Amino acid sequence: MNLTKILFSILLLSTIASCNEKIDGPEIEMQILEEKNLGKDFSKLHLLKEILTDINCINSSMLGKKIVLAEEFHSEDITEILLIPYRADGLSLTSYAYSDVSSRVILFNISSIYDFTLKNTLGDSSSIKPVMTLMLLHEIGHFMIGKNGLFDSLTPVNLNLGEQKSQLEPQYLSKAKKIELTADSLAISLVKDGVKSKNTSCIFSLMDVQRILPGMQFQLAGMRMIQNFGSAQSDFLPDFSSTHPNMELRISYMNYFLFPTPERKELIDNYIYNRTSGAVHLQELAPWINQDIEKNTL
Ligand SMILES: [Zn+2]
Repeated sequence: MNLTKILFSILLLSTIASCNEKIDGPEIEMQILEEKNLGKDFSKLHLLKEILTDINCINSSMLGKKIVLAEEFHSEDITEILLIPYRADGLSLTSYAYSDVSSRVILFNISSIYDFTLKNTLGDSSSIKPVMTLMLLHEIGHFMIGKNGLFDSLTPVNLNLGEQKSQLEPQYLSKAKKIELTADSLAISLVKDGVKSKNTSCIFSLMDVQRILPGMQFQLAGMRMIQNFGSAQSDFLPDFSSTHPNMELRISYMNYFLFPTPERKELIDNYIYNRTSGAVHLQELAPWINQDIEKNTL
């Protein structure tokens, strides 16, 4: 058998093998949505396809996998991760995004991601794409470390539990929180590596993520101050769930990791100081404690 025939046989065999890989994404998607009592969200499929093209161009080299929508998903191909956009009606998942690493599935709650974007960015509609990109990069981080997780936990804090018991004490860094911070850091690593890519699509998309992060930090800090004006700091600076650190702190860390400047470090230091020992030390300087001195000196 000459070389041409051998090459032709190899080509034929590989074609037959790839034909055998059946697209079964729609069936799997339907099954997962039914199990969780969720509905598919068709509203942003076009935008998701754009995002996935951009993300997969960095993802494939870092993780060796690509994220696809149901109509392109072959469950036999272990390099594919199925992305399922779902509606929030009959909500049984309390996050914007959720990764099931062993099943190779990411669930994506489109309408609540929209709400999150409106609340936590400077509010223009151009922020939705980079926010979705950032959340997907965070989920890729979960796949890189092989640990399931959510982008954020929306589970309300149980106020009957003691702080230590519910792991809400600011400095209490639970194992789950460490996983989330690792996934955040990996998301930023992907952004930093991606902007060096030769693929311009990758670069623009990731530059957009870089662009929105400072605005998100500013917005979160601003809202915290407005919404909690006059209340005790300890009420709003701690983490709001036992699995995820406070969103403002996470975004601040991501921002710092992206561009480590002394100003960004100072913002983090101030935040941590205020939510730990700051509340105690502040009393030493509070004018109402020293009012006798004030009165005498005026
Ligand atoms: Zn997560």
